[in-house]
Amino acid sequence: MAEKFDAIVVGAGVSGLAAGYTMAKAGLNVVTIERGQYPGSKNVMGGVLYRHMMDEIIPDFWKEAPLERPIIEQRFWFMGRESAVQTGYKGMEWATPPYNNFTVFRGKFDQWLAKKYVEAGGLLINETVVEDCIVENGKVVGVRTDRPDGDLYADVVILADGVNSILARNLGFHQEWKPNQVALAVMEELKMPAEKIEERFNLNKGMGTTIEIFGDGTLGMVGTAFIYTNKEHISIGCGTLLSQLREKRIKPYELLEYVKQHPIVKPLIDGAEPCEYYAHLIPEGGYDSIPKLYGDGVMVAGDAAQFVNGIHREGSNLGMTSGRFAAETVIFAKKYGEYDERALSRYHDMLYDSYVIKDLKKYRNASHTMEANPDFFNHYIPASNMAMSEMFIVDGKSKYDRQKTAIERITEGRSKIGLVRDIFKVWRAMT
Ligand SMILES: Cc1cc2nc3c(=O)[nH]c(=O)nc-3n(C[C@H](O)[C@H](O)[C@H](O)COP(=O)(O)OP(=O)(O)OC[C@H]3O[C@@H](n4cnc5c(N)ncnc54)[C@H](O)[C@@H]3O)c2cc1C
Repeated sequence: MAEKFDAIVVGAGVSGLAAGYTMAKAGLNVVTIERGQYPGSKNVMGGVLYRHMMDEIIPDFWKEAPLERPIIEQRFWFMGRESAVQTGYKGMEWATPPYNNFTVFRGKFDQWLAKKYVEAGGLLINETVVEDCIVENGKVVGVRTDRPDGDLYADVVILADGVNSILARNLGFHQEWKPNQVALAVMEELKMPAEKIEERFNLNKGMGTTIEIFGDGTLGMVGTAFIYTNKEHISIGCGTLLSQLREKRIKPYELLEYVKQHPIVKPLIDGAEPCEYYAHLIPEGGYDSIPKLYGDGVMVAGDAAQFVNGIHREGSNLGMTSGRFAAETVIFAKKYGEYDERALSRYHDMLYDSYVIKDLKKYRNASHTMEANPDFFNHYIPASNMAMSEMFIVDGKSKYDRQKTAIERITEGRSKIGLVRDIFKVWRAMT
């Protein structure tokens, strides 16, 4: 029989590596299997990485990890055809160590994290596809890979194989995701000298900003476009629910091209040289789509468990935390030599006690409410742009009359009660 490990991790993204590192550091015999050429080669992120959750796994990681820029400003644009209502927050408290979050390139970051994992004693096998879990008497006991003699055995298998998670589906933990449970996102990296980025985005040397764009950035579909600053690159992308792309028959790359040509966006990226293009799914089903999370000898973490908070564009942190919790569950289970469903239910309890499930629960109705009420993106955002434009025009019309017209723009074709009802729906979905 093949060598038996304490744990097998499927997928060397941030979730899998967080799990693998935590177990290897605790002295467990761990193998992580990645289908890509190297960790980071298949992973896509905008990408804002959150310091606190990574610090809980590798304290002070930010002193040595390959990071792009600390984020000191988060902007939100509610975009019309040729305009944007803008808001956001810039805080110099984020410009000093240990910082709040950073932009990263997953290609570099995941390789660094994988190196730490290997240094901690973990085994990494790249370019190997896990085809299925090996199940004996209802218990997951290992995995079958596409290599000759490629069966591996362990007390526990952690599935951190990303959004599609075919392995969890094969175990009956979830059905195939519906088109309104996943978003399709595309993004580009555009090269630009550091000084130019700082000049155009009004940034101090080395600091970064994020811009989240709603409304015309996704042609009124439920989703967002984004612009993030890296050291010498700008990441620009957009993502919308697959159901919406299908319904509107829009190709994602056409949408990205539209964003890049938008008169408010274009001056920021003008002259930048495209160097990488990515497309990837994002789990957007939220709380109500969370699959079965554990069974006899198996746990599911990260995107594979639908752990993405789309409202706050957080996924990597939920992935890292869930990977760590899964690892800590295995470390605890090893003390008693018990890995059945009851022993692994500790994972469920840790998740439900943490921000991971609490945040997903808080926004459980957000994207469904937006999808069911296309007016939020199609009407209210363009209307708020027209209203603002109206309020700022100075041509002798009285402010009273301007305000009246601005309100008419927003309520256009709606009763006052309808407006109040819509505000209430948003409030309910977000609180
Ligand atoms: C365009 C875009 C922008 C985003 N922006 C942000 C952001 O700014 N901030 C943020 O926090 N999150 C963001 N996210 C979400 C974030 O990228 C994910 O939540 C995060 O990558 C999840 O990590 P993971 O390790 O669970 O999955 P992944 O990173 O997808 O890793 C899964 C790994 O499993 C491997 N794998 C899959 N199947 C198998 C198999 N059968 N055998 C072996 N290996 C396998 C894959 O190759 C992959 O390496 C963004 C996502 C996209 C697409």
